[in-house]
Amino acid sequence: MNLNIALLKGDGIGPEIVDSAVRVLEAIGKKYDHTFNFTPYDIGGVAIDKHGIPLPEETVSGCLAADSVLLGAVGGPKWDTLPGNLRPEKALLGIRAAMGLFTNLRPAKLYPALKGDCPLREDIVANGFDIMIVRELTGGIYFGERGMREGKYGEEAYDTECYSRMEIERIVRVAFETARKRNKKLISIDKANVLESSRLWRKIVHEIAEQYPDVECADMLVDNAAMQLVRNPAQFDVIVTSNMFGDILSDEASQITGSIGMLPSASLNETTKGLYEPIHGSAPDIAGQNKANPIATILSAAMMLLYSFNMAKESQNIIDAVDKVLNEGYRTPDLAHGAPALTTVEITDKIIERI
Ligand code: NAD
Repeated sequence: MNLNIALLKGDGIGPEIVDSAVRVLEAIGKKYDHTFNFTPYDIGGVAIDKHGIPLPEETVSGCLAADSVLLGAVGGPKWDTLPGNLRPEKALLGIRAAMGLFTNLRPAKLYPALKGDCPLREDIVANGFDIMIVRELTGGIYFGERGMREGKYGEEAYDTECYSRMEIERIVRVAFETARKRNKKLISIDKANVLESSRLWRKIVHEIAEQYPDVECADMLVDNAAMQLVRNPAQFDVIVTSNMFGDILSDEASQITGSIGMLPSASLNETTKGLYEPIHGSAPDIAGQNKANPIATILSAAMMLLYSFNMAKESQNIIDAVDKVLNEGYRTPDLAHGAPALTTVEITDKIIERI
């Protein structure tokens, strides 16, 4: 296959980790006879410096024209004092909206080789865990009506959670399809005991569940889910939830893996196009030092191969190579706890050797 990938390297460690993922994709292309064409575009702080805005039009049109998009990270202290609409992070909301990315897939997996990094008790994670969170990304309270007003007690602020049937149906279907490809277990998380929007969410989940009799589906209240994630994370396989609940729970799930530099993500729309990025930020404290862990970005590229290009064996090849490198004991400084560690480039070399 011949595919065009837009590269949004961004700020901080972004360029280093995206370069690593590009090298891995090139190795996959060579092995399986695919051509990946990479075109870089500016986003975030670097775009502010060059163009005066965090998301130039050229970046948006380049991403829309590409077959898929790989993003590093944006932001850093240099741009922290700019007004909200000029902040690097604003570009993330802008590109998600422009591409219509309503699905966010966030895996949280505890690698057997990294059990020691998990902050939970050993007996709780004896068998590891492998969770896929399907988060709605373009609706709900983050996009609802909001404002300030004078109320009975003076100044008031409000935000509104609103979900349409269409928005719920499409994300719930993605979740059932995802569950079908995994262990056929789906938990839908809501707050249906209090919120009207959650009651509609739950009703639609039950309707769609009838079309997926092979998938075991249950509801869970969000407060209970927050507890269950630390009490027994292995009970979860696929989770589907709204934008805000997903935002919070996916960060909780990533923390219990203990290794922020390991976790990829995919944001998808109705087409096969997607935006793939590590869940961590631009790590300005270690930028430009060849110290960053590139694995989250490399695994994001593996998700791209699977979800955008339907290349299951190529994707698995990357995942297996990462597993091997970790099982052989190689670590970047974030996972080495002071022991000798490999640089960004060196660990990428090890992964490529195992492809
Ligand atoms: P961060 O994720 O950048 O860093 C948190 C800590 O984790 C730091 O100590 C960092 O060194 C470490 N870390 C993160 N990724 C790592 C990796 N791959 N390898 C090794 N260590 C890693 O979060 P932060 O410090 O809160 O934010 C820094 C900047 O990133 C801010 O400007 C923030 O707005 C931005 N940010 C961007 C995104 C994004 O682009 N999607 C997400 C979160 C934060």
